[in-house]
Amino acid sequence: MDDCIIIGGGPAGLTAAIYLSRYHLKIRLFDCGSSRAALIPCTHNHAGYPDGVSGLDLLAAMRAQAEKYGMVREAAKVTGLRAAERGFAVRIADREIRARSVLLATGVVNHRPPMPDDLHDAALAQGRIRYCPVCDGYEVTDRRVAVYGTGEHAAREALFIRSFTRDVTLIAPDRHDLPPDQSAQLAAAGVALIDGPVGGWAIEREQLALSAEGGHLAFDSLYPALGSHIRSELAVEAGARADERGCLEVDDHQRTSLPGLFAAGDVAKGLDQISHAMGEAGVAATTIRNMLNAEAPLWR
Ligand SMILES: Cc1cc2nc3c(=O)[nH]c(=O)nc-3n(C[C@H](O)[C@H](O)[C@H](O)COP(=O)(O)OP(=O)(O)OC[C@H]3O[C@@H](n4cnc5c(N)ncnc54)[C@H](O)[C@@H]3O)c2cc1C
Repeated sequence: MDDCIIIGGGPAGLTAAIYLSRYHLKIRLFDCGSSRAALIPCTHNHAGYPDGVSGLDLLAAMRAQAEKYGMVREAAKVTGLRAAERGFAVRIADREIRARSVLLATGVVNHRPPMPDDLHDAALAQGRIRYCPVCDGYEVTDRRVAVYGTGEHAAREALFIRSFTRDVTLIAPDRHDLPPDQSAQLAAAGVALIDGPVGGWAIEREQLALSAEGGHLAFDSLYPALGSHIRSELAVEAGARADERGCLEVDDHQRTSLPGLFAAGDVAKGLDQISHAMGEAGVAATTIRNMLNAEAPLWR
């Protein structure tokens, strides 16, 4: 039986793998290859990289570091998780593997605007589409920026971006539906409002262009604010508690409400950032080590 199975090979899962393998524990990591970090053209807010680092390079370095200490990694999707005698049973296709503990680090998937995939991916690679103003608001300082969405979440995002640039437009997928107090805040901040639907998405002269009822528009960057899908189903089906959005509830040692099941990174409630995912994973891994040691001393 493994000491711990890690589900997810993004910054959270790989950090936990480095810690747990350096604690001499028998671990196995499953990853189906869709880390949000892999979409980052170049992060400039991750500490330690003054010239920035691409998400793919960061993940490759973390994988190499974990493998150096013996991480066993399989490129496979976990399809089932259940509590079992002395731990958990994890399902991968027609196999079931047992472990004394499980760390869920499956992240989230952003909802995308309605544009062709190849255009979306090209715009993302060029920074014309961005998903995280906490990460890269600095890069749009004094640029022409749109936020695509409406309601409380999108309005909050537009107001957040307003501290990087005065040129912010909030575009609704359909008609705007904004709480009155936020409408007033947006007006006071000079955020322009445009109703949808919009179409004609294109990259034109290093800008993202689109057409709305009032005419043709172009922006240096557009932030979709359409929410995300939280990949917590495995844990919820096994019995762990999540909030109304699907984020797993964890205590300050990253324990979920199901004993022996831990969660770290975007899938758990908190700031969706690489540094946060790594910090949570370090805490989770050390708590897992201490829990296993309390059950049976890990002496060599
Ligand atoms: C465009 C973009 C730019 C960003 N820029 C920055 C930035 O500059 N700085 C910053 O700090 N953050 C940035 N972020 C956020 C950052 O990418 C995330 O906070 C970080 O990747 C979270 O790490 P994680 O390990 O929790 O999840 P992820 O990186 O999403 O990894 C989750 C992993 O779990 C795997 N998985 C999911 N379900 C299963 C399953 N059932 N079985 C097996 N594997 C599974 C997935 O394949 C994936 O590899 C950005 C995000 C985006 C989208």
